[in-house]
Amino acid sequence: MGMAEPVQEWPDARRKEALRAERTESYVSTQGRLTTPQMATHGQAPRVAACVYIGVGSNLGDRMSHCLAAVDALDRLDRTRLVAVSPWYETEPVGAAAPGDFLNGVVGLETDLEPRALLEACLAIERERGRARAAREGPRTLDLDLLLYDDRVVDEPGLTVPHPRMAERAFVLLPLADIAPRAVHPVLGCTVAVLRSRLSDRHAVRLYQSSWSSAV
Ligand code: AMP
Repeated sequence: MGMAEPVQEWPDARRKEALRAERTESYVSTQGRLTTPQMATHGQAPRVAACVYIGVGSNLGDRMSHCLAAVDALDRLDRTRLVAVSPWYETEPVGAAAPGDFLNGVVGLETDLEPRALLEACLAIERERGRARAAREGPRTLDLDLLLYDDRVVDEPGLTVPHPRMAERAFVLLPLADIAPRAVHPVLGCTVAVLRSRLSDRHAVRLYQSSWSSAV
């Protein structure tokens, strides 16, 4: 696993609240995207936050609590804003080594973090929830996958975006299509809705909870 860069330092709660208020005031919406006008005032083109989708999964312990903790932790990341949370689905595990059903959903974020920094932050959130990486298909308290990062294609040691297995996974495409049907897979050149329509096994995934907030 690639751990090339240090995990980003998270601000303490009070500083985070101040940053959040500042950010809320200073961001303006342009065609549904966020820009940071501070950069425009310095005579540069406004920076547009990246639109990112992260898959969230758990099949160990209090699965919903792990997933909701992940949503909260992603929302609290520096220079990042939560924009969507999908309904939650229940899925039978793929490998024989993982006994319990998975709970899966997808989170939409807008962020100024680069893909590698975002991945490192996701791995840190997994560690916070006590994830052990004993077996690849084994049970896990929390699994976070960087699915799409704008239309960027990344192929580096330890980081592949779009996520290499997302197009064949019903437990990714169903929740992703709920919140981003028109998002385009930059390698396959088609929308998430089209990818979902091509799935053969989508009935193996059951809707578990249609509203994420009611589970808190
Ligand atoms: P897994 O055990 O299947 O969750 O794999 C996690 C490992 O996959 C991480 O250590 C990452 O370095 C690597 N990885 C590569 N691409 C991605 C991605 N798009 N999202 C999450 N993990 C990734």
